[in-house]
Amino acid sequence: MHLLIMGAPGSGKGTCAVELKSYYSIPHISTGEIFRKAIANKTKTGLIAQSYIDKGQLVPDEVTNEIVKERLMESDCKKGFLLDGFPRNLDQAYALSKILKELNIKLDAAINLQIEDKYIEQRIINRRMCENCGRGYNLISLKPKNEGICDVCGGKLYQRKDDTIETIDKRLVVYNTQTKPIIAYYKKLGILIDVDSNQEIEKVVSEIINKVKEK
Ligand code: AMP
Repeated sequence: MHLLIMGAPGSGKGTCAVELKSYYSIPHISTGEIFRKAIANKTKTGLIAQSYIDKGQLVPDEVTNEIVKERLMESDCKKGFLLDGFPRNLDQAYALSKILKELNIKLDAAINLQIEDKYIEQRIINRRMCENCGRGYNLISLKPKNEGICDVCGGKLYQRKDDTIETIDKRLVVYNTQTKPIIAYYKKLGILIDVDSNQEIEKVVSEIINKVKEK
């Protein structure tokens, strides 16, 4: 199964991706996570990415496209993959189509998580992430059983540095101006799946799975 998941910041891409990854037994490739790891490891890519991420901007396409291409060529992607947070603009979408053509892979579906703007700020401010497994929590709607600890792996929960009010507004502008146009691109390709993400996570995930089956 070859999938990608997109949606505004805080729409629940990462949370759904964790469930879909285990349902389909495919690797979850999150460009945001790749950048956060690179920043933590202080690599050259991490240093470049940090300056953009902290400002709520997109990391340049040359850097991002290359990372995705290399990742998709790894052997675990032979059984499929779930791309999360890539592509984020039309040029990245075209670059992805080119990479997939070279690798002789057809995307099965592009999942578009829909969420009204009014819910986004609260979702992001209350978001906490596991520093070990990357699982996402929400201090209001998806609380960990023990404060500050991941239910699944026991890792420490942290708040992303870019999950601040100031950065959220910038990320939303980037989403609305640069990322939204890719929805029409995947609709034209006939693989778009729209899913209302303002429901319980189990419902969102089962709606995705059912709609992917129908594709
Ligand atoms: P995410 O974890 O998907 O919310 O991504 C966090 C941040 O990483 C974004 O706000 C961007 O600064 C950067 N980023 C993630 N994916 C991409 C991408 N496909 N292109 C450019 N920048 C990205």
